[in-house]
Amino acid sequence: MRGCDEAKLALAVAAAGGHGLLLVGPPGAGKSLLARALPSLLPPPSLEDRIAITCVLSAIGRWPGGLATERPFRAPHHTTSYAGLVGGGSPPAPGEITLAHGGVLFLDELPEFRRDALEALRQPLETGVAVVARAGRRVEFPARFQLAAAMNPCPCGHRGDERVPCRCPPARVEAYRRRVSGPLLDRVDLRVELRPPDLDDLVPRGRPRAPVPRDPADRASEDPAPGGPAPARRATGHRTADDRAAGGRAPGRLAADPAAFDRGASGNRAAQHRPPEHRAPEHRASASRASGRGASGNAGRRARGGTGGDALRAAVSAARERMVARQGERPNALLEGGELDRWVPLRGRARQLVQEAVRRRGLSARAVQSLRRVARTLADLDGSGPVSAEHAARALALRAPLEPP
Ligand SMILES: [Zn+2]
Repeated sequence: MRGCDEAKLALAVAAAGGHGLLLVGPPGAGKSLLARALPSLLPPPSLEDRIAITCVLSAIGRWPGGLATERPFRAPHHTTSYAGLVGGGSPPAPGEITLAHGGVLFLDELPEFRRDALEALRQPLETGVAVVARAGRRVEFPARFQLAAAMNPCPCGHRGDERVPCRCPPARVEAYRRRVSGPLLDRVDLRVELRPPDLDDLVPRGRPRAPVPRDPADRASEDPAPGGPAPARRATGHRTADDRAAGGRAPGRLAADPAAFDRGASGNRAAQHRPPEHRAPEHRASASRASGRGASGNAGRRARGGTGGDALRAAVSAARERMVARQGERPNALLEGGELDRWVPLRGRARQLVQEAVRRRGLSARAVQSLRRVARTLADLDGSGPVSAEHAARALALRAPLEPP
């Protein structure tokens, strides 16, 4: 997965290993787009999953008329009630976490959700079961979902944004971030900070780029959907040439145009950073899929050559095959102590890196286990047996701490 920008790498890791993902960034950084791309990278549901997904749909009166073929993607609004999110009512009804069973639960504006509902996610994240107790009745619903969450870096959304100043007092930033509790965050393996996209990512490759207008009025005329107020356009992540020169290119952005995701529009920069052997023409995912399990190593190596949607899907699928061959159907996100010792022994430099991080960042024991799971997935994406120091370093980078204000 060399040459992949951090956001896409995080997405591939989440999809391959079933890891929870938190995206932190200002409005327009592509958080929602990234989260919504997650289901398309996941492997198709197993027969067992399809039966479970169908049962849930039937229970809420939305039987698809056969076995469900797609994983659900649920994106409840932050005003959703506790019962709506977790389940409840009389008679007890399943909540969003059950409707997301076998698929993805996307919580945008994470800190805006009810605190008690967020806390109630902790148990299902570990057990895959939602327990609804009411008036002496106790009902269990399936709730094995993959969590994708997004939040702004601060209440106004522009902390760390070079173009729009953040006016939030540090105490408010602190309070905002504290609404998402440490114990819940500890259960989210991947945390990525995103920057707003810049023009290179917004203009598809191969098309001559128009000069960047400075005047807000000119910018409005450039807008494909004219009439938007200038401040809103700033908020959607456009940068001026001066901004670009000053800010340089930071990792962790994704093309704001959904189609560009598949075209690999941000592959320009990736190509420059790729070692020469990775510049070979991309093999399409269909070719990699057709190669079957026996050639999964090859599929993975081919997939590493590109960062477009097809290449990511091929890499994810090859990594999943490695997991299944090693440990059965359970993805790396669900590996426990003994399995981690067996399949993710940290040795040498990898061990040192993690120990340093424990000292410097005060990582909990749970956080270290989480790092090992992510490092295992990175190694699987690389087609590598042992977890290397580079995998450990990348796992640490994919757990970007939410810096104190
Ligand atoms: Zn702010």
